[in-house]
Amino acid sequence: MPRWTTAPPPDSRSGSLPLLRTPATRPLQGIITSPRLIGTDTHFFGGHTVPCERPNCKACLEGIPYRWHGYVAAYSIHSNLHFVFECTAQAATPLIEYQHDHGTLRGCRIEAYRWHKRPNGRVIIKCTTDATPLNVLPPPPDLTKIMAIIWSLPPQDVFLCDEETIPARIDASSKRDGQSADPRLYTFPNP
Ligand SMILES: [Zn+2]
Repeated sequence: MPRWTTAPPPDSRSGSLPLLRTPATRPLQGIITSPRLIGTDTHFFGGHTVPCERPNCKACLEGIPYRWHGYVAAYSIHSNLHFVFECTAQAATPLIEYQHDHGTLRGCRIEAYRWHKRPNGRVIIKCTTDATPLNVLPPPPDLTKIMAIIWSLPPQDVFLCDEETIPARIDASSKRDGQSADPRLYTFPNP
């Protein structure tokens, strides 16, 4: 027998934001709402990008390579969408330079596109200062809390490790799958 209710059940994902990656066919545009980039090593495991939880990491134990991914929150005025943007270490370099030069990423307009519009083409990010007043933007979200929801981890397991270790730039040339980006901006405790 169906059990009818007059309202949907509480949404366990409330407070989350959609996670967007750079599409192949068109640029992704938005104005960054977070003050800084955060990132960590991740695996593509079980069909999803998941954080590396080494030294007791199931994906590591199965020999799955890890790679660093960075995250910022951004807002699209056209679609009225607040989202989390994911990028690789190589693509993140302009974000880190902007953050270094301006002291914050909030208010930075990003345009991300893929080289030759290939689905796995290299992502190029252009950063410019947007004229939109900062008070028009949504407040900076708690990105670590949102990533915990996206990754289905307890909120206390996703936290800022050491924000003073953000490098001026990431040496993308030395970065390959299976090698650690050093220093790691964020880390995660063992399960
Ligand atoms: Zn791992």
